[in-house]
Amino acid sequence: MSEEFCRTRSRVQHQLWTDPNYRNDMIRVHIGKKYPSASLKKRGRIPWNKAEVWKTCARCGSKFRIPPARLSTARFCSKKCHDGPRYPAKCQICSQISYLPPNRLPRARFCSAACRAIFVQRLVPRSKTKIEGLMASALKAIGLRFLSQYTIGRAIPDFAIPNERIAIFCDGNYFHSLPKVKAKDERVNERLSNLGWRVFRFSEAKILDNPDACADVVRKACEL
Ligand SMILES: [Zn+2]
Ligand SMILES: [Zn+2]
Repeated sequence: MSEEFCRTRSRVQHQLWTDPNYRNDMIRVHIGKKYPSASLKKRGRIPWNKAEVWKTCARCGSKFRIPPARLSTARFCSKKCHDGPRYPAKCQICSQISYLPPNRLPRARFCSAACRAIFVQRLVPRSKTKIEGLMASALKAIGLRFLSQYTIGRAIPDFAIPNERIAIFCDGNYFHSLPKVKAKDERVNERLSNLGWRVFRFSEAKILDNPDACADVVRKACEL
């Protein structure tokens, strides 16, 4: 049964469809199950893993048994064969070795989004914006020690106080009012607070109006 089915695919599918033993409902009922259900046993139907439907693996050439419904799409015998061979790639930042499929090797430079963020930060030396400058001098004026452009995972807050686990963002009016950026900001907030950081966001209007008040909010949080 197996050999001739593998050569003529369409004929097999037709036969499976017309054969009452290989109806689709039977396949669906038996997903993830090892043995045929009692009701199907009564009806005398054969589950797919007892059915003799075989295919040849496109990678290793071994024969494997599959559900009739997957006959046209299944190509590999196992996850290992599906993924193919993997080669080591070294992260440019942390030198960690990760094993990747060959098609990803030319573009593989970093092990993670966090390492990419560090690279971007080193590559693009950016000058402080006006509101960042105001905020920085206000923080300095009340004697807070902070780091600029500190990377936490893949987030880069404008200022950070690592000892207190406080992250400070200065949000420009236009850019941070865009819906896409707003959603991203919220994701960043959530990720940072899951890591145990307290996130402070000050809008451009607030900082321009009164930078000292903004710095005071941070100082109060430090004292808590
Ligand atoms: Zn295989
Ligand atoms: Zn890395």
